[in-house]
Amino acid sequence: MSIAENISQIKSELPADVTLVAVSKTKPNNLLLEAYQAGQRDFGENYVQELADKHEQLPKDIRWHFIGHLQSNKVKYIAPFVHLIHGVDSINLLKEINKQALKNNRTIDCLLQIYIAQEETKFGLSFEEADAILNSADFQELKNISIKGFMGMASNTNNLRQIKKEFQSLNEFKYKHPELKILSIGMSSDYKLAIENGSTMIRVGSSIFGERNYSL
Ligand SMILES: *Cc1c(COP(=O)(O)O)cnc(C)c1O
Repeated sequence: MSIAENISQIKSELPADVTLVAVSKTKPNNLLLEAYQAGQRDFGENYVQELADKHEQLPKDIRWHFIGHLQSNKVKYIAPFVHLIHGVDSINLLKEINKQALKNNRTIDCLLQIYIAQEETKFGLSFEEADAILNSADFQELKNISIKGFMGMASNTNNLRQIKKEFQSLNEFKYKHPELKILSIGMSSDYKLAIENGSTMIRVGSSIFGERNYSL
């Protein structure tokens, strides 16, 4: 199937209030343009340099989502244009995003990344850590960021019951923060399950663009 067909297939399965972010990391501009011509406007990338280059080269009405792990010293490269930063996992990173947003005279929308998988990973906050940030005086002072919700990645497993449990736990946590509307969960392998469990934003790469080839 073509990229356009993949997108319309996925969109036909989405409730109206769920946003499809097309994850285009490692993919060349011509494939992103194919998606763009099919009406896709939200794109996700997880390397800063690649995102900055693509932003420069592609149509200006694209909404760029940063979905990878963001290092503080690289925030400045995406601060002028980024639409939503999904993977925020520390107050220090929030402070740097706030600083760069201020420099660019804008407010940057962010999601707190919550660690829900069973695997060991360096990234993501526990529910307690996320609450501690949201309730901290440091955070209240940051006027140029806006936390819009939460992002999570389920365990890399075929066990659907496990994945469902992880999505549910994050959805329940989100319900305790009714002012935060976005729940970014679901990728190619599990977005249907994510939608059944409260997702408002899915991040889909290979089901749109095909498998990634990291050796390129
Ligand atoms: C690559 C990536 C995706 C998309 O993965 P697919 O399995 O190709 O759909 C989603 N979220 C994050 C954070 C990613 O890094």
